[in-house]
Amino acid sequence: MATDRGIIFNIQHFSLHDGPGIRTTVFLKGCPLRCPWCANPESQRRQPEPILEAQTKKQTTIGEERTVDEIITEVLKDVDFYEESGGGLTLSGGEIFAQFHFAKNILQRAKEEGLHTTIETTAYVEPKKFAELIEYVDFIYTDLKHYNTIKHRQVTGVQNNLIIENIRYAFAKQKQVVLRIPVIPDFNDSLTDAKHFAQLFNEYQINEVQLLPFHQFGENKYKLLGRKYAFENVDALHPEDLYDYQQVFCDHGINCYF
Ligand code: SF4
Repeated sequence: MATDRGIIFNIQHFSLHDGPGIRTTVFLKGCPLRCPWCANPESQRRQPEPILEAQTKKQTTIGEERTVDEIITEVLKDVDFYEESGGGLTLSGGEIFAQFHFAKNILQRAKEEGLHTTIETTAYVEPKKFAELIEYVDFIYTDLKHYNTIKHRQVTGVQNNLIIENIRYAFAKQKQVVLRIPVIPDFNDSLTDAKHFAQLFNEYQINEVQLLPFHQFGENKYKLLGRKYAFENVDALHPEDLYDYQQVFCDHGINCYF
């Protein structure tokens, strides 16, 4: 596929939680990870795929090809709101690096238009590409799902080495980074897990982390895609379930918040 076009599965205007100010969030399709708790399972496969409409249950297709020009034109419709609120463009997924050239071209064009740019990424990509793309990025949301690379691979399908290396690079470049841990039952939610995460962050002088307690918001989408949801009977977590977990990070001098 040419680098000026790619597959997206949504464009969301007036997003308030995907970075500073009012934003337009563009969701790219395709992710090399397979987290069984994924709240956006329709984002995982790169190509458009059949899905049932939530209301009518009629079959439709999720994912469509768009050019960089089309996306920038769409994003620029709300430029007045960005200027008033300090907002801009957010590129999310899936995993944006799964369509590296497409993602980079969108961000490069956005910067040429003077837009503030945010990405949401797993940081699972070769470091050269990570460094190349974040040149066009002001703000980064990323996460670390497990501190142990074997456990990380067992559950997500990939090791964590590249992810950790790229996260360290983003901090070293003094980018604005929000680092998160999705706290998942029986995967990384014990106090021992918290201690290992905290020790790793201490080692890399990472002083802030956001906890994302497990939820089941994506469950219905698995049904609409005709896939099985692995967390069907698993209770959601809430901040009050994780105060001791949070305290472990505080005890290691890390600002830990929800
Ligand atoms: S990295 Fe994100 S998008 Fe990819 S499978 Fe995991 S939760 Fe889903």
